[in-house]
Amino acid sequence: MSARILIQVSYIVVAMLFILGLRSMASPVTARRGIVWAGVGMVIATLVTFITPEMKNFVLMIAAIVIGGSIAWYLGKVVKMTDMPQMVAVYNGMGGGAAAAIAALEFARGDVHGTMMTVLAVLGALIGSVAFSGSCVAFAKLQGLMNRVWRLPAQNAVNFVMALIAVVLGGMIIYAGSADSFGDPMKFKLMLIAFFIVSLVLGVILTSPIGGADMPVVISLLNAFTGLAVGFEGYVLGNPALIIAGIVVGASGTLLTQLMAKAMNRPITNIIFTPITGEAISSGEGITGSLKEVSALDAAAMMRYAQKVIIIPGYGMAVAGAQHKVWEMTKLLEEEGVEVKFAIHPVAGRMPGHMNVLLAEAGVPYDKIFDLEEINEEFPQADVALVIGANDVVNPSARTDKSSPIYGMPILNADHAQNVIVIKRGRGVGYSGIENALFYGENTRMLYGSAQQAVAQVIANVKSMQG
Ligand code: NAP
Repeated sequence: MSARILIQVSYIVVAMLFILGLRSMASPVTARRGIVWAGVGMVIATLVTFITPEMKNFVLMIAAIVIGGSIAWYLGKVVKMTDMPQMVAVYNGMGGGAAAAIAALEFARGDVHGTMMTVLAVLGALIGSVAFSGSCVAFAKLQGLMNRVWRLPAQNAVNFVMALIAVVLGGMIIYAGSADSFGDPMKFKLMLIAFFIVSLVLGVILTSPIGGADMPVVISLLNAFTGLAVGFEGYVLGNPALIIAGIVVGASGTLLTQLMAKAMNRPITNIIFTPITGEAISSGEGITGSLKEVSALDAAAMMRYAQKVIIIPGYGMAVAGAQHKVWEMTKLLEEEGVEVKFAIHPVAGRMPGHMNVLLAEAGVPYDKIFDLEEINEEFPQADVALVIGANDVVNPSARTDKSSPIYGMPILNADHAQNVIVIKRGRGVGYSGIENALFYGENTRMLYGSAQQAVAQVIANVKSMQG
């Protein structure tokens, strides 16, 4: 078999592994296998580059693989589950940046020929640059390096003008074709540089005004952008694996963006063009009632003698790493004849599937975990809804308060349960920064403390009631 045929066949195998990997993500049971499939595909794709005839810089390639691989290995080991969104933003930005860099190099070397290839290279460069700089801003925000929401006067008009300039410059590059056909290599280079700068700035100004609860959707959208950019550059390089991987990432990113936007009841256009800003955040005025504390002993008794308990985990459970204790408490309650279910909001925590991953890690069986639509009707029959470090996802003002930034977001109906116990450390607000009427409800009791310790106290008290 000639090297060319071997390369093409390998790329098809790689593409199939990527698709298989993604397919396996459909269920938590097969998700780990999916990661292995995709990983093997990535290794094959990397090895194939070594037998590609045009490849000459083996030393550089090995150095890049060793440096990049070591950093990724280290980060993969040390990154905390709660910092995962930042990590996704970084990888996303790398993908978009790589696609833009490929386009820049191909233009600089004069390797882009024909209208179709030039159009795709320009589109890949534009989308890749926006994904790169937008992901950098998303990372800075999630990492707490950029706490302010920057909103320019007439932001949407500025966005439109910048996008227009980028499109015009891109059009000029397509029209010019290449430095040779343009006739003036210097002017062509300047046009390219201006195009990349404007595209990068566009990514920054599009992302900077977006804050609060919308950030996960933005990361997912940028992920879809990165996929598209990689797919376009795959065409430019004549690399089928890149084309298929790019399309798979682009399509899945788009679907995930739509699902998340729906879960937060925020149309995508609304997220980008009318983001939630600091000023929009309501102070919780109009909330009546008071916060009523409960002891770990009383909370344990309420659950020990309940028939049905629904647990709602949130970001606080992740920060506290309380999932193992929560599962221990669940088993204990079940031994006492209590029916226990877990209710998962699609955007609970800080990344899609955050709670599912943590509960799976602790060993909670999948048949005890229910999505919002599956469980919301069951809250009125629950004796206790136990909210562990969740806030926005159980905030009833999403149903009633039109001035609330999360108005319209579907929430878990914890307030419909007979009793609500909320475990949190104090009066801290949720991700969107707003007060929560649920905590002031007649049937709500607050169990103050970090989730891990609070649940441990409940466990100790349930044990003391046994036998
Ligand atoms: P949340 O609204 O962020 O609230 C978390 C609560 O946990 C806080 O009120 C905090 O109160 C408490 N907490 C913090 N540390 C704790 C600890 N050690 N022990 C116990 N409690 C602790 O969380 P959520 O209800 O899960 O909602 C998620 C929010 O994040 C949504 O607004 C969503 O849009 C947004 N978001 C989601 C994603 C995603 O993809 N899932 C990504 C980014 C953003 P105290 O300080 O008083 O303890």
